Amino acid sequence: MVKTIEEVRHHHREHPGLWGLVPTMGSLHSGHLSLFRRARSENEYVAVSIFVNPTQFAVGGDFDRYPRNVNRDLSLIQDEGVELVFVPSVEEMYPAGFQTYVTVEKVAKPLEGAMRPGHFRGVATVVCKLFNIFQPDRAYFGQKDAQQVVVIKQMTRDLALPVHIVVGDTIREPDGLAMSSRNAYLTPTERRAATVLYRALCAAKSKWQNGIREGKNLREDMQAVLANEPLAQVEYVSVADPESLQELEEIKDKVLLSLAVRIGKTRLIDNFVLPSS
Ligand code: AMP
Repeated sequence: MVKTIEEVRHHHREHPGLWGLVPTMGSLHSGHLSLFRRARSENEYVAVSIFVNPTQFAVGGDFDRYPRNVNRDLSLIQDEGVELVFVPSVEEMYPAGFQTYVTVEKVAKPLEGAMRPGHFRGVATVVCKLFNIFQPDRAYFGQKDAQQVVVIKQMTRDLALPVHIVVGDTIREPDGLAMSSRNAYLTPTERRAATVLYRALCAAKSKWQNGIREGKNLREDMQAVLANEPLAQVEYVSVADPESLQELEEIKDKVLLSLAVRIGKTRLIDNFVLPSS
């Protein structure tokens, strides 16, 4: 485990070859491990960063209480064939006087961007900096954070960053709940209620499988399932183009169904991508 940018650069110089990078905020679960394994199978070396990035949290958000357990994370990583783990301090990533940010415009505005102003500015900035520190050949992100993938791909294209973005499938609990470090916040009752995100997505998918192609219709299906769960407070449900993230009236091609829901105080997101039919 290394803590400084200088140590990462040194390690990189000593180990020339194909590097895959998996950026994380720690509190690792099987979703993260699946990205490590994918990276392991596609590169000579795998690097993992563990950094709870303050700039992507809102003031008054859950930055302070975000689950942190680096020792547990390091023991989980141990058997995954990871070459380098980078655990920087906030000061290492944002030294005094830091004042440069990356802002992706259009695709960062709807959905998460609308509910969490400044979130993607923080994400794009830290990911761009991690790319510069590691200079990886490939970087791995989860489909669980669908808009994050779109934003990072856009940034990578726009700034000609020499890295290939690889997207891993969403890993779920047996009852369908998407794995997330934030699931640890849920009480047992909330944990049972949290499956409502997956159930809402399944309801819309099954309508789509029956040939329904109106966006409004599928949004209403998701809303109806969510309305049946008293602990769920809906932030948004969306039926959008998976690349532009613009809402669709009529589905003609691939479609992204996504939603953000508060279960008690915990904000959860999930999505399905349905193929062109
Ligand atoms: P995080 O630590 O939550 O910032 O996540 C680090 C990376 O793991 C991001 O690219 C996430 O999209 C990805 N990830 C988080 N949860 C899952 C999951 N359930 N399945 C697949 N990837 C995930």
